[in-house]
Amino acid sequence: MRTVLKGMRAVFDGYTLRSGLDVAVEFGKVVEIGENLKGDEYVILEGKVLYPALVDAHTHLIYAGDRVFELKMRLTGASYLDILKEGGGIRSTVRATVEASDEELISSTLKRIEELKRRGVGAVEIKTGYGISYEQEIRLLKLIHEVSIKTDVIVVPTLLFHVPPEDGDVKGYLKEFFERYEEYAHLIKFVDVFADEGAFGPEETEMILSFYKSKGVPCRLHADEFKPFASRLAAKYGCVSADHLIHTTEENVKALAEAGVMATLCPVTGFFLREGFAPYDLLKEYGVRVALSSDHNPGTAPFLNPFITVLLAVFGYGMTPGEAFAAHTSAAADSLLLNKVGRIEPGSRALMFAMDYTPDELVYRGKVDAVVDFVEL
Ligand SMILES: [Zn+2]
Repeated sequence: MRTVLKGMRAVFDGYTLRSGLDVAVEFGKVVEIGENLKGDEYVILEGKVLYPALVDAHTHLIYAGDRVFELKMRLTGASYLDILKEGGGIRSTVRATVEASDEELISSTLKRIEELKRRGVGAVEIKTGYGISYEQEIRLLKLIHEVSIKTDVIVVPTLLFHVPPEDGDVKGYLKEFFERYEEYAHLIKFVDVFADEGAFGPEETEMILSFYKSKGVPCRLHADEFKPFASRLAAKYGCVSADHLIHTTEENVKALAEAGVMATLCPVTGFFLREGFAPYDLLKEYGVRVALSSDHNPGTAPFLNPFITVLLAVFGYGMTPGEAFAAHTSAAADSLLLNKVGRIEPGSRALMFAMDYTPDELVYRGKVDAVVDFVEL
C-alpha cells in the first residue's frame, strides 16, 4: 500500500524548507518525495507544513518531586550551596526519586513524554542519574525500559554518572559499575558523565570513558557547562556529543571539530540559570554540528516544550529558525545515532507531524502553543 501525502504548502525535510512536494509512504517508510506523486490512497494536508518528528537528545525525564521552591531563592541571589543547605539541589531530587514507587516514576515519566509529544517530539533520550547508588541507577534503567514499552515515542536510554556518592569513595563506586557491566549492558545505549566542577573531575571522567569505550558503548558528556575541561576529553575519547558548552573556549571548540564530536546545546538551561548561551557562532565557524535538546530536569530546565527551546536557540544563539528546527530534528537524531528519524527522505521512518506554521512563522509569532498533528498511516 502506497500512501501519498498531498496538499502541504511546504515540507521541512529535517534540513530545509521545501515547497510544492508530495511525500509517498509505504510500510511505515518514506519512499519518495517529489511533485505530483501517485499512490493507492491519499492523505490531504491542505495548507499545512509537514515536519519529521522532533528529537529530544538530552533529557533527565525520570525523577520524582519538583524544585519550585528553589526558583525564588535563585532569583534573589541564593548560591547553589545556600540551596543545598535549605534541602534543595540535586540531592533532594535523589531523595524523592529513591523514595518514589516504581509506578509513580513510570507514570510521571510517561506524562512528561506525552507533554513533549504534544509539541511534536517523537524520540527522546532519557538519562538515569537521580539514583546515584548502583542499585538505584539500575532500577532507573529498568524503569526507563518499562516506560519505553508503554509509549509509542522512541526512547533512548543513557546511564548517567551524575554526581559522586556522598561517602566520597568514587573509585569503589565506579568499580561496582565496571565489574557488573554485563548485568545491565542490554539496558543502555549511551553512557554520559556530568564532568564539571562539583560533579566528576577529569581523572574520574577519563576512567569512565576509557572503560565504556573499551566495551564499545558510545559516550556523551555534560561538558563546559561551568568549568571548561570536559570537551577536550570528549574529543580525546571520541564521544558522540559534548553537551551544554556554555563556558567553552575556542581551543575546546577546535578540538571538538577536529575529532568530529557533535555539540548538543540546551538553551533553556542557560536561560533558566541566567548563565547565558553557548557560543554558537564559534561552533558554526569551526564546523561543529549542533543539535538541540530540552535538558528537561527539575532543577535547571523544567520546561517541556521543544518550541521554547527553538525560540531560545534563535534569540539566544542567533540561529535561523530553519537551523534551529534542523538542530532539533536531523542533527538531534544523529546525536542519538538514530539515522532513520528526524528527517523526511527516502528510507526514513514515516514519523511525521503537520502544523500550521513554517519555522520562520512559528518563531516570529512565538507560537510555542502550536497544535501538532502526527500523521497516522
Ligand atoms: Zn543534563
